Amino acid sequence: MTEVQTPRRPIESGVPDPFPHMHPLLKKNYGQWKWHDRPRPGVLHHVAHGGDEVWTVRAGTQRQLDVHTIRKLCDIADEFAEGHVRFTVRSNIEFMVGDQAKVGPLIDKLDAEGFPVGGTGNSLSMISHTQGWLHCDIPGTDASGVVKALMDELYDDFVHEEMPNRVRVTTSCCQINCGGQGDIAINVQYSKPPKIDHDLVAKVCERPAVIARCPVAAIRPALVNGKPSLEIDEKKCMCCGACYPPCPPMQINGPDSTKIAVWVGGKHSNARSRPAFHKLVAAGLPNNPPRWPEVAEVVKKIFYAYKDDARDWERLGEWIERIGWPRFFELTGLPFTRHHIDDWRGGRHSLNASAHVHF
Ligand code: SF4
Repeated sequence: MTEVQTPRRPIESGVPDPFPHMHPLLKKNYGQWKWHDRPRPGVLHHVAHGGDEVWTVRAGTQRQLDVHTIRKLCDIADEFAEGHVRFTVRSNIEFMVGDQAKVGPLIDKLDAEGFPVGGTGNSLSMISHTQGWLHCDIPGTDASGVVKALMDELYDDFVHEEMPNRVRVTTSCCQINCGGQGDIAINVQYSKPPKIDHDLVAKVCERPAVIARCPVAAIRPALVNGKPSLEIDEKKCMCCGACYPPCPPMQINGPDSTKIAVWVGGKHSNARSRPAFHKLVAAGLPNNPPRWPEVAEVVKKIFYAYKDDARDWERLGEWIERIGWPRFFELTGLPFTRHHIDDWRGGRHSLNASAHVHF
């Protein structure tokens, strides 16, 4: 009789322990900070109850880091800081030093090497982005490329703190939007239902799983040329792209049909007003690498209208709430189109929120 083998257990490592790699002053004063301030854009100064002081210098990176850049950043940390770095969630790198005299030379070196110091307080911090063409298996655009193109144009607002409040911009390389909510969000917008390669569906896709994935129950099993496949009710399909990841033969990207949309007013924080979803303000922009000029133009219009008109400490969504949507479109000069009418009435009748398979 063959022996019954126990299945291999997954190795659950979880989040790595940060303490072995932490700057000694941060480790020593963990949970013991008394106050902090920002002596200049890009520099944080923390003072502990025991009197220790730490200066943190924040610089922007291109996020998709090659090994040469990582080595360069580590050499800067060894020579001009105290050998410790950490990355923020928005791909900025931070160097910690326990001596104020080290801050100036560190900033000069970072500037000389092309890493701008900034991204703190009321500035535009680095744009967060999804993986784009480098890693993602379903990208419609290169989110990291959009970031590079935009940050080149908005550089001054990264190195200065001159915005009414912090500005969080996000980009996503597909419409599923793992980029998250942002003051300004640049997301892919599919404009046509997927095209199905029927020869491949039975070989590649788990059909019940694909059918269950559709939020509006638009996918049905079908026999095409005698082979098991799928078909789409195009009247129901809202071109969300959710079926494409589990079933690549349902190709939704196309040179003419993959567009970019810009959304505004999203917010995670609970400060002053509740967290909010962003809202669509520009649709059907061309997906135009390598500089995405049409997207940059729209984002800059919104960004500078907010900078000029918002009151101190108003987040972008709060500013729009105060002035109203008609005034927003007036100030930004963006056209108001049929795409902006929010006719969503909740998921009760249209959203497939259950695990049932629809046939
Ligand atoms: Fe259309 Fe989305 Fe359903 Fe695919 S999952 S058929 S793209 S609505």
